[in-house]
Amino acid sequence: MSKPIVAIVGRPNVGKSTLFNQIGKKRVSIVEDFPGVTRDRIYMDAEWLNHQFTMIDTGGIEIETTDDMLTSMRYQAKIAIEEADVIVFVVDGRSGITNADEAVAHILRTTKKPIVLAVNKVDSPNREMDVYEFYKLGLGEPIPISASNSLNLGDLLDGIVEAFPDHAEEARETDEISIAVIGRPNVGKSSLVNLIIGQQRSIVSDVAGTTRDAIDTHFVRDDTKFILIDTAGMRRKSKIDLPVERYSVMRALRAVDRSDVVLMVIDAVDGVTEQDKKIAGYAHEAGKGVVLVVNKWDLIEKDDKTSLRFTETVRDELGFLQYAPVLYTSALTKQRVHRITELVKYVAEQQAMRIQTSVLNTLLMDAISINPPPAHKGKRLKILFMTQVDIKPPTFIVFVNDPELMHFSYLRFLENKLRDSFGFEGTPLKLVVRGRK
Ligand code: GDP
Ligand code: GDP
Repeated sequence: MSKPIVAIVGRPNVGKSTLFNQIGKKRVSIVEDFPGVTRDRIYMDAEWLNHQFTMIDTGGIEIETTDDMLTSMRYQAKIAIEEADVIVFVVDGRSGITNADEAVAHILRTTKKPIVLAVNKVDSPNREMDVYEFYKLGLGEPIPISASNSLNLGDLLDGIVEAFPDHAEEARETDEISIAVIGRPNVGKSSLVNLIIGQQRSIVSDVAGTTRDAIDTHFVRDDTKFILIDTAGMRRKSKIDLPVERYSVMRALRAVDRSDVVLMVIDAVDGVTEQDKKIAGYAHEAGKGVVLVVNKWDLIEKDDKTSLRFTETVRDELGFLQYAPVLYTSALTKQRVHRITELVKYVAEQQAMRIQTSVLNTLLMDAISINPPPAHKGKRLKILFMTQVDIKPPTFIVFVNDPELMHFSYLRFLENKLRDSFGFEGTPLKLVVRGRK
C-alpha cells in the first residue's frame, strides 16, 4: 500500500527545509539500525497519529535549466500539484505576502488537491496577528507556526493528516511482481518497456479509485505474473509545459513505494545522475529490490573489460547498492532485453527467501569464530542469537548482550556473511540489534 505524499512548496528562505527536518524528527522509527544513506534529503518518511506519509521538500528538487527563482517555483508548484496528495504551502509571516507568494498561490488555486497554508516564523503567540493578511491568498485558513522553535507543528500536522485522501486502495494480487521503471528522461525506459510488453499478450487496465492517473500494465511471462507501474504515465510524458520533460521525482518515489523491484535505467553514455542516486537511496531504504539496467550499450565502443569497468564505476557511485545486479542492454538491438524479466523474477525470489533459525545460527557461530567482535571500552559484545522475522526485505533480529556495543562495521560484516552464504542478490537486508532483557 502506498503512503500519501506531502509536498512542501514555497519560495526560498521561508523555512521549508527547517520545517521538513523538524517534522522528520518527530517520526517514530522502529528500525534504527538499518544502514542509512546520508546525503541531502528531499524526501523523508514521517508519521503523525498513526498516519504514515512521505514528505518531499520541493525546494531540493534540481531544476537544471533555470536559475530564475520564479520559474523554479512555478515548476515546483506544478509537480506538487501533479504528484502530491497534500500540498503544504509555506510563507513567511515576517515579510508578509510577496509577489512570488502570489504567483505560487495563483497556480495552487487551480488544483482541487488539498492545500495547507503554513505561515512560518511566527515565533511567539503575540505575533499571531501577522497571519491574517494571508487569508488574501485565497487558500483557506493560515496556520501560524515556527519551524525553528517547533511551535504549533502539531496543528499543522493535524491539518495535513486530515487532508489525506481515504483511498480504499486496490487489493493487490500477491503473486504478482510489481516493477517500477525509474530513470531520467531519454535513457530508454519507454523503449525497453515497449519491448518487454510488446512480446507479451498484455492486458492494460485502469487503476480505479485512485486520485493518481497511473495506469498499470499487467502481463504474464513464463508463468509469472508481472505488473509494470505507471508505464502509461511514462509514455504519455509529463503534462508539465516546460521545454524538456524532467525527471519527476515524486512520480518516481510513488512508483518505488508501490513496487517490489525497481528497474533503475542508466544511460551507458551519460552514467549515473544525482537524481538517480537519490531515488536509488530511497529504494534501498524502503527495502525494495533493485536491478540496474545500463541501456544504450550499443553506443559504447567495447573491449573485453568495458562492462567490468562500467560496473565498478556504477558501484562506486551507488555505493550502498553493492547487491544490485547490473545488466547491459540495448533497446535498439534488443540485446539482453529478454533477460530483464528473468532478473526481476530472480530478485523477487531473493527478497522473499526465508532462512531457518538453526541454519542462521550455525552461520553466526562460524562468523564469530572467524572474526570475534572487538572489545569496546573494556566491554565485549556478545552475540547471542539471530532470527529472521520478515521478508521483502529480509529482516533479521540480532540479540546481543548490549546493543551499544554493536559497531556498524560488525553489522556490515554479518550482512556480508549472510550474502556470501545465501545470496540475497538484488535485495537490501535489514539487521535489527536488540538487547536481551
Ligand atoms: P528554505 O529555503 O525555505 O528551505 O528555508 P530554510 O529552512 O533554509 O530557512 C531559511 C532561514 O529561515 C534560516 O536561516 C532559518 O534558520 C530561518 N527560519 C526557519 N524557520 C524559522 C522560524 O520559524 N523562525 C525564524 N525566526 N526563523 C526561521
Ligand atoms: P525514456 O524517456 O526514458 O522513456 O526514453 P525513450 O525510450 O523515449 O528513448 C529516448 C531515445 O533514446 C529515443 O530516441 C530512443 O530511440 C533512443 N534509445 C532508447 N534505447 C536505446 C538504445 O538502447 N540504444 C540507442 N542507440 N538508442 C536508444
